[in-house]
Amino acid sequence: MRPVSYSRAADVSGAVQTVTADPLSDFLAGGTTEVDLLRQNVLSPRRLVDINDLPLTAIEELPHDGVRIGALARMSDVAKSGMVRERFPMVAQALELGGSAQLRQMASMGGNLMQRVRCGYYRDAESPCNKRDPGSGCSALEGVNRTHAVLGTSDHCIATHPSDVAVPLMALDARVHTQSTDGERVYDFDSFFRLPDDSPHREHPLGHGELVTSIEVPGTPLARTSLYLKIRDRASYEFALVSVAAALSVDRGAVSGVRLALGGVATKPWRARRAERLLLGAAAQRENYARAAREELAPARTTAMNAFKVELAQRAIVRALETLTQPGSPA
Ligand code: SF4
Repeated sequence: MRPVSYSRAADVSGAVQTVTADPLSDFLAGGTTEVDLLRQNVLSPRRLVDINDLPLTAIEELPHDGVRIGALARMSDVAKSGMVRERFPMVAQALELGGSAQLRQMASMGGNLMQRVRCGYYRDAESPCNKRDPGSGCSALEGVNRTHAVLGTSDHCIATHPSDVAVPLMALDARVHTQSTDGERVYDFDSFFRLPDDSPHREHPLGHGELVTSIEVPGTPLARTSLYLKIRDRASYEFALVSVAAALSVDRGAVSGVRLALGGVATKPWRARRAERLLLGAAAQRENYARAAREELAPARTTAMNAFKVELAQRAIVRALETLTQPGSPA
């Protein structure tokens, strides 16, 4: 690990200017991923600008039942927020399933969206990896790839996006606000996460020094009837093999509103738009849920080890939707 200079930023514009001025500098928030990667020589910035003193921790009410979450709000605080729990239960559930209590108290919401992939080859500085070292190759394509993605992959990278909370935020059409030396910008959630295509090292559209300042979650009555289902190899502190964020409303037996997104199966938080289109207006029944799930997974591209994810994801979608429509559910 090479020497790193460290400073604490006192305001947003100062932080943005300092990082923008040095191409080998980076922001430091909760540090729950970044410090590991520094130790493993995966990241090697010359300068770290600690942003933990910036006033970006608020969880604020927006008109029409929306919520604005500061980029430095801790995962644990957002999960505890009454507003979030009532309006977006799937967001609170994803946060609670997203890591240990200690990690949730340190990790920031902005950092969660920016976290790096958990592909073992990315973290092994000796292995070819297009994401860490562009053009070097992808060791996972013919390597150990049981946990890797089946949707949104390319011949250059098949790493799964690791975030839990990004999955319900994708279903909710959240927006990401940023600040750069050129001013403020707003990204819709889908465009904030790039597919790997032929440049997997570019995971977001942000310029160097562009800082995530908040996440805006638009209100929708639909989200009050929502859940986050996470399937993993062990019951605690494990990344998702498959996860589903689902919100559903039913009117006279037919689906009148639906939001669906998948985690653990794709190279970015995956909005299940094919399934949503098929479900809207269809009878709220298991066979329609299963048909929509099959269609969503139809473009899946599997490897020698991860083909099981296709059926697992289909079953998880059906289970999530059935749970929302069973007697006693508020749907
Ligand atoms: Fe690197 Fe992506 Fe291949 Fe993993 S899957 S080795 S992160 S290029």
